[in-house]
Amino acid sequence: MASLTRGNVLPVPIATTPGGSPVKFRLTLIGALIASAVLAGCAGGSDDAPAAAAAGTTTLTPTRTIIMVWDGLRPDSVNATDTPNLYALRQSGVNFSDNHSTYPTFTMMNSSSFATGSFPKTSGFYGNTFWTPPQGSANTIPAGNGASGSAQDYQDPVFTEDYAVLATLNTYYGGQLLLVKSLFATAQAAGLTTATIGKSGAAYLQDLGQGGVFLDENTVQPRSLATELQNSGIALPANVVKNYSGADAVTLASSNGNPTARAGYITFNTTAYDPNGTLTVAARDSADTTQGAPEDAANKYMLSVYTQYILPKKKPMLSLIWFRTPDNVEHGYGPGTANMKAGLRSQDARLGELIAALRANGMDNSTNLVVVSDHGHSSVSGPLSLYPLRAITPSASLPNGTAVNGSTSGTSAASLGAVNANGYSFSGDVRSADLLTYRGFNAYDGSGCSTSAMYGLDANGNPTLPVKTDANGALCGTVNTKYQAISATKTSNPTARFTVPAPGSLPANGIVVAANGGSDYFYVPSHDAATVQNLVKVLQQREEYGAIFVDSRYGSIPGTLTMAQANLENGKRQNNGQPDVVVSFNWDADTSIQGMPGIEFESVGGQRGMHGSFGIADVHNTLIANGPSFQGGLTLTTPTGNVDVAPTVAYLLGLSMPQADGRVINEALVTPASKSQPNVAASTVSSSAASGLAFELPTDLTGATKDASLAAGTYTINMAVKDLSVDGKTYRYFDYAKAVRK
Ligand SMILES: [Zn+2]
Repeated sequence: MASLTRGNVLPVPIATTPGGSPVKFRLTLIGALIASAVLAGCAGGSDDAPAAAAAGTTTLTPTRTIIMVWDGLRPDSVNATDTPNLYALRQSGVNFSDNHSTYPTFTMMNSSSFATGSFPKTSGFYGNTFWTPPQGSANTIPAGNGASGSAQDYQDPVFTEDYAVLATLNTYYGGQLLLVKSLFATAQAAGLTTATIGKSGAAYLQDLGQGGVFLDENTVQPRSLATELQNSGIALPANVVKNYSGADAVTLASSNGNPTARAGYITFNTTAYDPNGTLTVAARDSADTTQGAPEDAANKYMLSVYTQYILPKKKPMLSLIWFRTPDNVEHGYGPGTANMKAGLRSQDARLGELIAALRANGMDNSTNLVVVSDHGHSSVSGPLSLYPLRAITPSASLPNGTAVNGSTSGTSAASLGAVNANGYSFSGDVRSADLLTYRGFNAYDGSGCSTSAMYGLDANGNPTLPVKTDANGALCGTVNTKYQAISATKTSNPTARFTVPAPGSLPANGIVVAANGGSDYFYVPSHDAATVQNLVKVLQQREEYGAIFVDSRYGSIPGTLTMAQANLENGKRQNNGQPDVVVSFNWDADTSIQGMPGIEFESVGGQRGMHGSFGIADVHNTLIANGPSFQGGLTLTTPTGNVDVAPTVAYLLGLSMPQADGRVINEALVTPASKSQPNVAASTVSSSAASGLAFELPTDLTGATKDASLAAGTYTINMAVKDLSVDGKTYRYFDYAKAVRK
């Protein structure tokens, strides 16, 4: 086809020869560029792209674009050894070196930013996990099943990485789960074919209106696609049978199997938390080098459906492919670990397969490939001065589990080792509902009795929060349940479960915590100002917490920023989904574990890696683009964000999204919408100071042990921002928000 745009081709996959010289590769690419320029003049429109504009005009040719999301990919994980295909793509395309994840830096928050080009102030979406408070005199809450077919609990905060949950919520919000028109809806309205593939929830949110082709780990849509795939001998996700019933029911072929089955993480047991040596806590064996990503087989299957069927048969002009890797291996084993790097290599092989498929279908010259991560990633850890790293002594034998889709699983015989500066973290977990309840609040997170190896071990091996056993079931509801909770030591009303009361039964000024990883949401349905002020003071005094954002309705509270200042306030969700307070857990960008800088506390979950904070390692994420619409060999240093991806891709498709908060990244494009030079001004937004505080060390959950090194008792927040002004509009990018205690 005659394209006005530069015909640079995508690099050949080189996953089979890792470590290839980038210089040599660039020369190869230049040769390919010349060849494609010749071909571009004579090739007929073999890929069904809309007709190009007449030569000599500056009208943009709508160009096929694929957005590939590598969940949790840190920019400093891209290199010639672990990600050779992506490294080559970055070298020959555009590297956006100052890209920003939307805060809170969760997967589903950024899924909504990719979908709408907007922040929650505009989209109204608060994933990953948010709470839908009972509404009206009937105390109405959503109702429906999850993707696995079982009833979803909406009394508790709900985890939104599930197409069926999102569909229920969309119905609950009257079809307005996203309050603005999405990129996919915009493309479909213009008659373009779209495809969405991959991770549960994150992929589905792109096409809530179900106007395109969709495949995730649980289902396919529309129903006719299930038949098409089966008629082509292609397996379906096993849970697809839960999506359709009656005349639409799907019967799986006997050979279907479970192509999206997930292998388990290898865990090991440590008795370190138990003074009596009789209890064990499962912890992930970060020293293991054999596992790779548990979703390798699922990702390979979903990509193969795309490359073998959807791409050649449907020829989508807009696609989004979202895979869990490397996020899953970062969560399970930690950034920088051997298994995390194994996950990077498998994900890069998927990119190689995608590029090969584009070439095989004659689409490589005419397709833009945008590789982006939803957020960065950090190691879960408290300060190493309080919680030194520890070795894990590897097991000599294989884990005891059965293999799933080719990956090992189960419990290994590895054991917890001694303090070791090159070791692994056993700290960083925080349970906000427990800390608040101990201090007299009525706080609930709906997570029940639980244990984690990540609450912290000091240098002498003393646990911050020992594991206990509920012998008679009084605390946990079932006899002999293990738990960890400081609130279980209260003399009156001891508790360890934090069950959210039934709709209509929340105590006056009760607080519901939506625990989310690197940030927590706090809902105060009474909107009682004193409760919010008291909550803020606890968060300021506990050193596990960082920057605090409070709904503007509570006025000026010392030592806080308003949620509006971080684009988190949405009037339509103010009493129905938007939290009253959002807090980032504390983070440290300079401390490294396994060679990767960036640590943070997390809501308890026993993870080795986490994101969601307002820290540098979580906010600064990966954005790389390559293809005919993008300049080549460019490192773009102007600030960009995940909210800019949708408006930019819309422009590449000949469309526009004027409702988006983000911008078209013109400075990366061959044919920009505007050639105006952006002006960038960096500044710091600071809160007022809270004073008279006594800071409490993370090692003592009772709060009795104060931090003698911070005697002034003042707390402020510094939020680093960059304002980019172009064509009469200003776009704000957030670099980080940091609590400053003195
Ligand atoms: Zn993610």
